[in-house]
Order: sequence, then C-alpha cells, then structure tokens
Amino acid sequence: MKQTLDIVPLKSWFDTGDAPLIIAGPCSAETEEQLVATAHLLANTGKVNVLRAGIWKPRTRPGEFEGIGSIGLQWYRRAKEETGLPISTEVATAKHVEEALAAGVDILWIGARSTANPFTVQEIADALKGVDVPVLIKNPVNPDLSLWLGALERVNRAGIKKLAAIHRGFSSYEKTAFRNEPMWDIAIQLKTLVPELPVINDPSHICGNRELIPYIAQKAFDMDMQGLIVESHIDPSVAWTDAKQQVTPQALSDLLSNLTYRHAKSDDPVFEDKLAELRKDIDKLDDQIIKILSDRMKIVEKIGEYKRDNNVTILQVNRWDEIIHKRSNVAQALKLDKDFVVKLLELVHNESIRKQNEIMNSKPVAEA
Ligand code: PEP
Ligand code: MN
Repeated sequence: MKQTLDIVPLKSWFDTGDAPLIIAGPCSAETEEQLVATAHLLANTGKVNVLRAGIWKPRTRPGEFEGIGSIGLQWYRRAKEETGLPISTEVATAKHVEEALAAGVDILWIGARSTANPFTVQEIADALKGVDVPVLIKNPVNPDLSLWLGALERVNRAGIKKLAAIHRGFSSYEKTAFRNEPMWDIAIQLKTLVPELPVINDPSHICGNRELIPYIAQKAFDMDMQGLIVESHIDPSVAWTDAKQQVTPQALSDLLSNLTYRHAKSDDPVFEDKLAELRKDIDKLDDQIIKILSDRMKIVEKIGEYKRDNNVTILQVNRWDEIIHKRSNVAQALKLDKDFVVKLLELVHNESIRKQNEIMNSKPVAEA
C-alpha cells in the first residue's frame, strides 16, 4: 500500500545536480577551533554540500559528554559564515528547534532515539509549525518501519515539506560486524511505500568503525539512496564521541572519490532499449516460474488427498531431507547459491504443507 506524504523534491531545496547530497562533519561540536578547522578542511574538499555537528548529544549512559550545548551554535554560525556551507544539527526538544533556528541552522535532523518516541517527535513537530526548514528523520533505533513512517507523517503534518529520511541502521541484540544492523529491507520498504521521499544513508552510525564505511556507502548508492551523512573530525583519534567511526576530511575526500554514484535511470536510449529487452526476458521467465509453481501445487494437492485417504502424515522428514540434498546439488552444478535455493525450497515446502493441511482436514469429495 502506497503512503502519501506532501513533500517537495530534494532538488527543489537542495540542488546537487547529478551528484548525491553529501553531509559531513564531526559527531559533536567540541571546541570552536575543532569545529571551524574541520569545517574549512571539509569545504576545501569541494565534495561536501552541508556541514553536520551534534550540539546536543543523546548519550546512552549519564555522565558522558552530552554535547557542548547552545554555546556551540555560535561557533557553528562562524563555520557557516567562513566556509559558505549550510549547517545541520540534531534537535530533540522544542527548545533545541527554537535555538537552532535562531542561530541560523539550515537543516535539522531528528535522531534515532527521538524517532522511536512519538511524544518527542510530536513536540518537535509542534515547534516546527509555520517554519520552512528542511528536516531529516533518522530511522528509529528499533527495526520498526511504522515508527519511522509515523515520525515522517507527524513532521509533514506540521507543514514541513522539505523532508528526507536517514537510514542509520537498527539496534539488534545479536552482535555483528556493524554497530547498527543495516537491515536494508526496511529502508527499501520505506522507499517502496513513499517513492518520492529522498533517503540518505548514514554509514558512520551503521558501521561504528571507519573501515567498513566505504562498503556501506557504496551499497547505499547501489540501493538508489540519494546521499550520505558521514562523520568527519579533524583528528578522529581524540574525538570526544564516536572516535572509532570518524574519518579525517582527507580520508572522506578519498572515500568519496572511490565511490560510484548510480542513477535510477539512464538517459542513454541504447542502454534503456537493452534493459527493456532483458526485462522482457525476465518477465517471461517469471511467468514460467509461476506456472511451474502452480503445476507443482496441483500435484501437492493430489498427494495430499492421497495421504488423507490412506491416513498418512503430511510431513515425511526423510523425503524432505532428500529434496533439500538433491536440489542443492543441482543448484550448485548450475552455479546458483545453495542457501538461496534452500530458502526458496523451504518457502515452497511450507506452502505445500499448508495446502496439504487444508486438504487433510477437509472431507473427501463423495464419489458420484
Ligand atoms: C548522530 O548523528 O550524531 C547521532 C547521534 O546519530 P543517531 O541518532 O543515528 O544515533
Ligand atoms: Mn555520532
């Protein structure tokens, strides 16, 4: 089901031409010198469109550095004036919104912890009524698409039309290589539900370490995301927050040069023709797959009736083991990924069991 948000295209409020939107800057504003010097180095790369810096920091544990607070806004304004770059920061309360706007912050974002809390989002949305400022909404910390959508709707209903989402990954109990699991499928679902919504990727908070950033950033472009927000610090080793995931402005510049930005469409008619031709072949094969599945299901039904009439169980583990074993060998010989084929067979098998269960619990059709 498509969702509608009353938004204007990214190009109308931030035109980067054919290039992605790049937001970069330190996790936190720490000192005037650190913020302004980092801003200059980032501006000098010529690859950064907007600065980022946290003025108020949501910290998991009390007693950690919770952001430099309002004083940082004055330093930030200086960075904006000297570099000519627009500035962005996280707001979590109505007061933050008021202070940030008064200081000339150009773009606001709502952090992952705030998105998870509808009271907070509503408070921010109320403070934004009557204001024309772009707002970026990070996904909630927990993998819940509705909360993300809900926050976008609340802010949109407050009249904010310059809206975008930030994909920064999700908390998961299981420890993996990432600080926050990307769970790409949730971001893809959001893009499918609201195709006009720009989605920007935050590889820094997904990775939690600088080494993995290029991999995630490229994947984001491959998934048709329209920009990146990356943490960059003049000297990451001494950063007060998120030291492991920050990169120097030079490293950011190199990283950006090595990425390939892809477009959802091409203007090249030869490419479009070839793509259309290949898609026709795919359509034909998909139709055949559906037809084959339907034929297979008919046989499954017949077997179901046969089992029912002879009082035999639906599930026969040996038979299932044999199917998995044989088919994965065939798959391997055909250079198909074994796990993919097993997953597909499991889906088909579950549906077969569901069908046979239905049959098992229905009465045999009386003989005429
Ligand atoms: C941040 O961008 O500095 C931040 C706190 O991120 P998140 O809300 O994604 O944790
Ligand atoms: Mn951070």
